[in-house]
Amino acid sequence: MIPLKSAAELEVMQENGALLAGILKRLCDDVRPGRTTAHFDRLARQLIAECGGETAFDRLAGFPGAINASLNEEIVHGIPSDDRALAEGDLFSIDIGMVRGGFCADMATTVGVGRISAEARRLLEVGEKSLWEGIRNVRIGNRVSDVSHAIGSFVERSGYHVVREYVGHGIGRELHEDPQIPNYGPPGRGPRLRAGMTLAIEPMVKTDPLPTEVRDDRWTVVTASGGLSVHFEHTVALTEQGAAVLTQGGDARRSVDE
Ligand code: MG
Repeated sequence: MIPLKSAAELEVMQENGALLAGILKRLCDDVRPGRTTAHFDRLARQLIAECGGETAFDRLAGFPGAINASLNEEIVHGIPSDDRALAEGDLFSIDIGMVRGGFCADMATTVGVGRISAEARRLLEVGEKSLWEGIRNVRIGNRVSDVSHAIGSFVERSGYHVVREYVGHGIGRELHEDPQIPNYGPPGRGPRLRAGMTLAIEPMVKTDPLPTEVRDDRWTVVTASGGLSVHFEHTVALTEQGAAVLTQGGDARRSVDE
């Protein structure tokens, strides 16, 4: 069952999304060589508490951190650590979730640490664009896999590969609600998109086509080849007026239409 949100509920989710976007921006602004991934976890906890929220990943998903802090070949679920420092040229993926007023917000971005390679920059661009390809297809009457197909086909056309083992999801009172939103597959399948749905769309894009692996810590998902990976995620609401990206604040339809 896909829970539809009322206008009042969407208002809370909009507020949460804007707050979380501000928090993630603060984290990204602080990225520089030498900072540890645990530093960002502590900062995230502080900023989430300051806006009256609670961290979602540890409380609701049992993850050992407020953020996923994943570097380079680490795709997602990297565990924040005082022993992991950012280095010039790294790709740093931060996935962050918050619950506040009974509703969740979830978003992710990947940033370069200092100067990064041209290849890393291109992967970043394709990863971020693929998220917007998906968001553009969040329209009333479309089906879930229209979003999946838009993301996957764009990534493959660009010469990269989507992660198949981890998918986007509905979001609301729960961090993970129906429907699941894969980042690949044929269009025209799955539930129809309706006003009141709130979706976390999150392509993970990598340089190799291989199945992912999980490290011995039982959390950190990595590319099998050691190749680079990026992760971009927004929480999006669908209303009669169209898709609104909640995790960037303000009216996002401008960006969707770009
Ligand atoms: Mg998510």
